[in-house]
Amino acid sequence: MYGSLGEIVSRIVENTDLEKTKVENMIKEKESEFSGLISPEGAAHIIAKELGLNLLQRMPKDLKVENILSGMNTVNMTGKVLRIFEPREFEKNGKKGKVVNLILADETGQIRMSLWNEQVKAVEEGQLEQGKVIEIINGYTKDDGMGGCELRLGRSGQLKLSDKDIKVQSGAVHSMKIRDLSPGANAEVRGAMVQFFESNPFYYVCPKCENRVTEGKCEEHGEVKPKPVLVISGIIDDGYGNIRVVFFREQAEKVLGMDTKKAYKITEEGKDLKPLRENLEERLGLEFRLRGRAKVNKFFERLELVANQIEEIDPEKEAKAILNNLKEKN
Ligand SMILES: [Zn+2]
Repeated sequence: MYGSLGEIVSRIVENTDLEKTKVENMIKEKESEFSGLISPEGAAHIIAKELGLNLLQRMPKDLKVENILSGMNTVNMTGKVLRIFEPREFEKNGKKGKVVNLILADETGQIRMSLWNEQVKAVEEGQLEQGKVIEIINGYTKDDGMGGCELRLGRSGQLKLSDKDIKVQSGAVHSMKIRDLSPGANAEVRGAMVQFFESNPFYYVCPKCENRVTEGKCEEHGEVKPKPVLVISGIIDDGYGNIRVVFFREQAEKVLGMDTKKAYKITEEGKDLKPLRENLEERLGLEFRLRGRAKVNKFFERLELVANQIEEIDPEKEAKAILNNLKEKN
């Protein structure tokens, strides 16, 4: 806050090309205009306002999702809650913690947000629901380790319900043929997994902040007990074309048909991957509907899809749905 007269004057000088004496004179004139009814500070505030400076608020304006990058310290944005995942509990150093992930969207795209511990209450107590528009004040972003970024609320962060009407870009998630995908497209494709790659399906994150750990150490929390997280990649084919697709975390669990805990257990904590590979082999040929973002893998110089939503297709259910649809039409 810029309270004192001196501070306000220097703020005005900093942000305009007016000289200090000129600003002081303008303030005096304003005071006399109000016949001494306002203080010099009050007059200075009015001058600042007339010059288009907002002294009370130093906040940068709202960002759009398409302009949010990882590593930003101050992110203010307004978005619609497209999806809320199940809150998860975890334990660290004997203390219980909670985390919940959300997908927020605006006119320009979608972003994942995570709320931690006390912040999860908003979801549990029902203030925060799917479809609501929320305002994020003083958020920050982190690399999510999946080629994107994740929004979080810091200590000074705030989350408020907003009555703004937001046109979400969900219309931009088109159901597409794989051969029509282009870089940056948010798309839904449907196809069968025709191959899984043999790369290591586990990577390790810090149990406190979920950042990747290197040699058992988190940049922020030092030595921690690394938590295994799943990453699975393979090729999906829709009969018209195919593409490499990468599944992280919950998405990888769905492809595998098994949660991370179990996968870690059957592989003897990641030491013997054979049982997991056998499991994946059994999953070959299964059909999935998945949403993701197409991007160029710089290493391989080819397009790949990073899945952010995936659903196994039950052929029987699908057939019934089609039949029902036909009945309704007739
Ligand atoms: Zn950490």
